[in-house]
Amino acid sequence: MTRPSSPDSAADPRAWAPRTRAIRAGLSRTGFHETAEALFMTSGYVYDSAQEAEESFDGTRERMVYSRFRNPTVAAFEDRLAAIEGAEACRATASGMAAVHGALLCQLKAGDRLVASRSLFGSSQWIIDELLPRFGVEREFVDGGDLAAWEQALSRPTACVLIETPANPTLDILDVAALAELTHRAGGRLVVDNVFATPVLQSPLALGADVVVYSATKHIDGQGRCLGGAVLADAAFCNDVLGPYLRHTGPCLSPFNAWLLLKGLETLELRVERQSATALTLAKLIEAHPATARALYPGLESHPQHALALKQMRAGGTMIALELKGGKAAAYRLLDALRLIDISNNLGDAKSLITHPWTTTHQRLSPADKLAMGIGEGMLRLSVGLEDERDLAADLAAALDAAR
Ligand SMILES: *Cc1c(COP(=O)(O)O)cnc(C)c1O
Repeated sequence: MTRPSSPDSAADPRAWAPRTRAIRAGLSRTGFHETAEALFMTSGYVYDSAQEAEESFDGTRERMVYSRFRNPTVAAFEDRLAAIEGAEACRATASGMAAVHGALLCQLKAGDRLVASRSLFGSSQWIIDELLPRFGVEREFVDGGDLAAWEQALSRPTACVLIETPANPTLDILDVAALAELTHRAGGRLVVDNVFATPVLQSPLALGADVVVYSATKHIDGQGRCLGGAVLADAAFCNDVLGPYLRHTGPCLSPFNAWLLLKGLETLELRVERQSATALTLAKLIEAHPATARALYPGLESHPQHALALKQMRAGGTMIALELKGGKAAAYRLLDALRLIDISNNLGDAKSLITHPWTTTHQRLSPADKLAMGIGEGMLRLSVGLEDERDLAADLAAALDAAR
């Protein structure tokens, strides 16, 4: 795609450190020489001549023709996120679910087999369990991180594998490098939903994954303002497999939301690093409290896969799960005693948010399925925000006391 030339295009974003890429990659100034990225609220584009219009459609001239296909603000977000992730290409979508849906449906066909981890975001599970079988895609779920179970499931030809790590809400860690190898041996592509780790803390493509998906609604916006999503992979996948699927089915990101997300990327690293540091402090507080049966945080030494988390993540992340001794009643007592942290099913926000997965995000599942996924009635999931650590610790400590 040709861009108006600017001083920035002389530099190679791939040579910059991630923090510089987050501020500068994808920047393409207009003739007004504005400082901040321009917002192109336009659905279409005009042509100087009939000939130019013809050439734009027959492929001899590469330019923007319609915002369902490409838009300058959406392209700036895609270029910047690709530079941060270290991916060849990125396609933005209207939501995280549009990203998951597009990444799977663009590559699967009747007769294909998909293997997925059991602990998945509820709507991802619906796509695999309810939607894909309608189109003749066979699926199998694997529980947890037991590599022998994955080896067994991937001993047959498999077109695609979908995992989340850390998983929602149990914070199980899956070995991305090992699963990439098993997936490739089975002839498939490994798709990683990297929402919980964010591009700041984990780089699945560098670990061998083929496709990364994001709900940009979470940490990338990070301020609870809009929905968005993204798929990152090599240029061949994005241009030839995913591109036509998105272009013709239309889950495109609004330029306005792309602009919010683009500005969100500038502070992503600072926010996630701070939130993750606060999360470690709070996880230790939770673990030491007598009301707690179990604190689940990849940055704690007590986490069953702490060593693996250290190997593939740069920090423990912004999410904590805890299981209370008193079951649902204790969980509700804790939630209702909080004065600062909000009860909300969202996550990745500047505001700390807490939810009871059993009755909200995972309500749709049967009790047996929830227990199989490691979700108990006394489990809570805390998304740590940007408030002062001391205020959060005081709020949480008082609510844990009330839960006893
Ligand atoms: C929120 C979320 C999604 C879905 O994203 P939306 O933007 O809500 O559509 C997918 N996967 C994970 C892990 C999520 O947390």
